[in-house]
Formats: sequence, C-alpha cells, structure tokens
Amino acid sequence: MKRGERVIVIGAGHNGLIAAGLLAKRGLKPLVLEARGHVGGMMGDPDFRLSTMPFAVWPQVLRALGIDVAFEPMTTLVPTPQGVVGISTEQVVGAEDGQAAAYRALMSRLERQASALSGLLLKPPPNLASSGFGDLLGLAGTGLKLRGLGKTELRDLLRIVLSNIHDLIEDEIGDGPLAAALAVDATLGSAMGPRSPGTVLTLLLRMARNRGMRVMPKGGIDILTGKLENAVMACGGEIRTNAPVERILVEGDRVTGVQLAGGEIVPSAAVLSSAAPATTLLDLLGPQHLDAEFVRRCRKTASTGMVARIDFDLKDAPRFSGGTAPSGKDRIVIAESAAAVEAAFNAAKYGELPKQPVMEAHYDDRNRRLSVSAQFIPCSLKGGWKEESRRALQRLVERELARVFPGFGSLAAAARLMTAQDMAAAYRVPGGHWHHGELRIDQLLMLRPFDGAAHYAMPVEGLYLCGAGAHPGGDISGAPGFNGAQALLAGRRR
Ligand SMILES: Cc1cc2nc3c(=O)[nH]c(=O)nc-3n(C[C@H](O)[C@H](O)[C@H](O)COP(=O)(O)OP(=O)(O)OC[C@H]3O[C@@H](n4cnc5c(N)ncnc54)[C@H](O)[C@@H]3O)c2cc1C
Repeated sequence: MKRGERVIVIGAGHNGLIAAGLLAKRGLKPLVLEARGHVGGMMGDPDFRLSTMPFAVWPQVLRALGIDVAFEPMTTLVPTPQGVVGISTEQVVGAEDGQAAAYRALMSRLERQASALSGLLLKPPPNLASSGFGDLLGLAGTGLKLRGLGKTELRDLLRIVLSNIHDLIEDEIGDGPLAAALAVDATLGSAMGPRSPGTVLTLLLRMARNRGMRVMPKGGIDILTGKLENAVMACGGEIRTNAPVERILVEGDRVTGVQLAGGEIVPSAAVLSSAAPATTLLDLLGPQHLDAEFVRRCRKTASTGMVARIDFDLKDAPRFSGGTAPSGKDRIVIAESAAAVEAAFNAAKYGELPKQPVMEAHYDDRNRRLSVSAQFIPCSLKGGWKEESRRALQRLVERELARVFPGFGSLAAAARLMTAQDMAAAYRVPGGHWHHGELRIDQLLMLRPFDGAAHYAMPVEGLYLCGAGAHPGGDISGAPGFNGAQALLAGRRR
C-alpha cells in the first residue's frame, strides 16, 4: 500500500490499537472503527475493568510504537487454611519447603523452555508448506533456540509439550496451593481443565513473554490504553467509537471498504479486523465470499467462554484471616489445589455452575474495588442465564470470597456481573471467549484460528485478521495486532 492510503481497522481493543499505531507509523492512514463507546475492548472501561492483570505486552511491540510503559511485578497470593502462600519472581513464601523448592526448580525449567519457544510468537506461525526464505529462516531460528536447551531438556520439552499440566504437577511438585496457581495459569480463560491435553503448551506460551510472572502497568491499565490511543493519533490515525461495522464490502475478490450500522460507507483498499474470526468472516464478510470448506472450519472453531467477571465496590479493604489486606500489586488465586481446578471444570463441562469456582482476584486499593474473574462459569448454562442463576452465581462467589476474607459480606457495597454470555454480546465474540477462540492444540500456531486460515491474510484480498483469535492468541500481549499489521505491510497474501 502507498503512504497516506486509508486502512480500516475494526475494533479498538488493544490489538486493534496496536495494529493501527504500527500502520500509522509506517505512513498509512488507519481509521479505527469501534462498536462500543470506549476504546480498550476486553480491557474494559474505568467503570468495569475486565482485564486488570495483564501478563505483559511484548516489549518489542511497545518499542515499535515508541511507547514507554513501566510495568511492575505482581505477587501471586494463594490463601490456604494455614495462611497465605506468596509467589513472586524472587521467592515462594508460606509453602512447605520441599514443595517450594520443587516448584522453583520446575518453574526455572519451564522458563527456559518457554523462552526457547518465544521466537514462534511475535511473527506469523511457521508455514511448514512454504519454501520461502523468511519462513525457513524463522523456523531455523526457533530450531537453534530449542537446540540451545541441550539434549536432556529438549527431550523433556518434547515429552511434556502436548501433555497436561495435571500430570506434570503430579510428577514434579504434588498437589497443593502452588499446584493450584500453576493449574490456574495453564487454564485461565480456556474451556480446559488441568487434565486436558495441551495445557502445558498453553502455560509455556503464556510464560514465553514474561517468564509467566504477572505485571501491571505502573499507574494502572488506563495508562496503557491511553498511550496506545495516542500512538495511533500522533501519527495521523483516527479512532471512531460508537461506530459498529455491519458489513465488509467486497468487489470481485477484493475488499473495497466497510458499511457501518447506520448505512455509512467507508471506502478502503484494506481492512484489518480485530473482531473475532467468526464475527469477521461469517457476520461481517459473509460466507458467500468464502469456499464451503473454509466456512465449515470457521463454524466448527471451538469458542466456549467460561469466565465470568464480577466487580465489587467495597466499603473497606478485604482482609485475609491473618488480618493482612492485599495490595494493588497482588493477584489473588482462589483455588485449593489442581484437583479443585479440575473439579470446577468438570461441572462447567456439563453446563453446570461449579460448587467452588476457581477465582483470580485483584484489589484496586485506590478505588476500593475487588475485581474477580470466576473461572469455569459456562457461557451456555444449563437452563439458561436468568436473573435467578445470576444471583446464584453472585452468592457463590461471595461465599467463596467470605471463606478467604472473613466478613466479606458486610464489606460489599455494590456488585456488577458479566457472564461470558454478556461478553459475547458486548464484544461480539462467540461464546464470550477470553481468547476469541479456544487456545487448544488443534487451534494453535499454524492451526489458529483454524486450519487454512493462519497467517492473517484471508481469502478475500485486502482482508487481514489482527485480534486475539489469530496467532498467538489472547491475553494482553499485543502480538496478534503486531503480526497482523506486519502481514499487511509485507503485502502477505493467502
Ligand atoms: C473477564 C476477562 C478477564 C480477563 N483478564 C485478563 C488478564 O487478567 N490478563 C490478560 O492478559 N488477559 C485477560 N483477558 C483476556 C484479554 O482481555 C483479551 O484476550 C484481549 O483483551 C483481547 O484483545 P483484542 O484486542 O484482540 O480483542 P478485544 O479486546 O475483544 O477487542 C475487539 C474489539 O472489537 C470490537 N468489535 C467487534 N466487532 C465489531 C464491529 N462489527 N464493529 C466495530 N467494532 C467491533 C469490540 O467491541 C472490541 O472492542 C481477560 C478477558 C476476560 C473476558
């Protein structure tokens, strides 16, 4: 594309903003069209934060945009009846000594293995059928990094990479609070339990960018959203909110622009979509522009969201039984064991509310708000989501919180709940899925979002994917937005 040409970016989630920022920096004129009244997508808005705890945006992505965001590490706290176990980069506190040592040894091994895989993420997935120099070089680079692990560790990686996190935990550390934290990190946002195959790989992919440690932008998530927004506008890009795209327009086999819900037509020779793949391809583009097999695969993509978000405004800081309160730099994992994580998943698998949901919580001490991601709350609840089932879920979450924070009931002043079904409608994501599509082994790397649709460029010329549904998947990483923009800039075609 030529300098100054308009490119439409659908969706102002962090990936859409990152893609637009990169295109603007390269002299194109991105116009970001966002259906909702705010930017940030699933990162939420100041009134209802969905993602308060990013693992970290890739530093290379922020550098490419010229953005400077300081991240500070978070400590993971796992409350147990005996006290709170704390996990940080430096140390594990409060766990039994033998288990803490085994955990640290396992984590440093996984960190090395994750780092060897990291080269696969900030670029298109490997194209095994290609004989192109770039593709081969990319594969060779990752191959070299993997060889750098040495024979024993490479063998170990090959042994565990497609297996499940439950078995690894059982072999290496035994069940308990540390195992619970690992099982949560391997499955959070997915419709997979610790015994599901591929959950070691999902953990490794998460750990690849930040050694698995959680970080938070200094000053809060709005700092990140604001800087991404500025990066688009500083280079001449434009962002329009309350501008839902209704159709992607095509002439011949080429994109010609989009039509907004009010009927307005915005012409453009290229469209990057950070909306979910099924939304982009089936709802906005339309199956008539795609071949039948492509449509079938798209329809079959697994995307069952299992996370509900509940935010509580509190009258005062919640306190663990020992009397201490979590700080804004803590992330609280509420799960007794990896077995408890599996039990919660088992119920959700059959459309039921788990007896004990697995929860990740963050207390924002400035706003006295406790944000809870309750995991394994099925999008399609048996009997449907009704006022009664919503209340039942809230009571369940409050009961679990009261177990961890005695007297929690009297602290909560107001609560807002969003089930995965609510998210599906709000963010136009099938199943309200955290990753815009399951992150399981048959939907990863060159199979993401589905076989035949990897590498960002879609069958209609000028249409690219750049959201969480594309490789390497969701979380606040910025990688799909970065990769999608690079594919367009390189003129990649399918
Ligand atoms: C409850 C919850 C908690 C989470 N917590 C974390 C966390 O702690 N850490 C972490 O790393 N990740 C977390 N995630 C995941 C993370 O938020 C997402 O993976 C990520 O935000 C996806 O970013 P995105 O830009 O690809 O898509 P989105 O953020 O979904 O943005 C896509 C945008 O496209 C817009 N859109 C869709 N269709 C149209 C259309 N037709 N026209 C115009 N606009 C359209 C949507 O409104 C949306 O704003 C969480 C997710 C959920 C649901």
